[in-house]
Amino acid sequence: MSHLSKEKVIAYVEQTIDNRKEMEDHLLTCDSCMELYLIVIDEQTYEAAPSSDFTDTFMQHMNKTVVTPSKDRTNRALIHYAIAAGFTVLLTVSGVFQGVMQATNDQQMEQKPSISEHLMLKTDQWIEKLKGEGKE
Ligand SMILES: [Zn+2]
Repeated sequence: MSHLSKEKVIAYVEQTIDNRKEMEDHLLTCDSCMELYLIVIDEQTYEAAPSSDFTDTFMQHMNKTVVTPSKDRTNRALIHYAIAAGFTVLLTVSGVFQGVMQATNDQQMEQKPSISEHLMLKTDQWIEKLKGEGKE
């Protein structure tokens, strides 16, 4: 399967496309399309906020991947996501992220919410779920 166009990713997020399973498989194996997917979610959430339910569904899918890590390619996508998310958390905890935000406050105000923000939100829930499953 070739890379996904932005239009296709938007159709996927809005659930107006048929071959969603095929696209999902590609998203989980392709770093650049995963990045595009996150950008689309970010834009969609900002403009109309129709996709939070879908994002949750996707995160649940990611959770299943953690519980049953059977395929190397899904692990690779998961690791990619975990690194991005973990890096964001690390920056936040160390206060670097906050410092940068304050330093560029005026410019940031005019920009859309960042992917990092989106990741932070989802990572929080994700980590909590992982903790819960680890105890069981
Ligand atoms: Zn791709």
